[in-house]
Amino acid sequence: MNLLALNWKMNKTPTEAQEWAQELGGGLQVSNAELAVLAPALNLPVLATGLPDGVAFGAQDISEHESGAYTGEISGAMLKDVGATYVIVGHSERREYHGETDADVAAKAAQAQASGLTPIVCVGEGLDVREAGEHVAHTLGQLRGSLENVGADVVIAYEPVWAIGTGKTATADDAEEMAAAIRGALREYYPEQAEGIRVLYGGSVKPDNIAEICGKPNVNGALVGGASLKVADVLAMNDAL
Ligand code: 13P
Repeated sequence: MNLLALNWKMNKTPTEAQEWAQELGGGLQVSNAELAVLAPALNLPVLATGLPDGVAFGAQDISEHESGAYTGEISGAMLKDVGATYVIVGHSERREYHGETDADVAAKAAQAQASGLTPIVCVGEGLDVREAGEHVAHTLGQLRGSLENVGADVVIAYEPVWAIGTGKTATADDAEEMAAAIRGALREYYPEQAEGIRVLYGGSVKPDNIAEICGKPNVNGALVGGASLKVADVLAMNDAL
């Protein structure tokens, strides 16, 4: 089953999250994918009680440390305690605006796993790299660094930076090319589990393109930003799958 992972980014107050969860509960008849809402941490307690049964939730970042004097950070134990299942690590916006390196991402992913959470590890190239034709090598390099000492309980999200929030979607064939390359690397890192590890595509996914992208053999779901904010779009994406 595909994973439909909804990255709200820095949107929605707890009150709005509550309303969204209620509206989803009113509209969702059958889940055609595993749904997971990746929300700002303050919204997680609201989602824990407000989401329909079977819809998972998680955070958008995690501290690489277990606990202690790290002002402003949120630990894996806190996320787990509130009922989170997933946490995004290494989103391109965190890599770009917060200077997160592959080593930081790997440390966060390992900490997530140590806390009983499944990290959604994001990788993907910028426009200059794509135009130079180096996107596969670049993304696989990021993947290698971001999975160092990370176990197989992981989801990978390929998000080409040039397709995020721009309305430019990679073609389904572009997504499959990279997902297949990522699968190849996973076979090397996790020979036993590679076929079962979900590889998602993210970047301007919408109701009208999700089916074609997720229909590709190595793509096992989507990580959706803008189109995750309205329940109607989420229901339409679920229907399309
Ligand atoms: P958009 O769907 O808004 O392009 O965002 C993609 C993304 O960054 C999801 O993590």
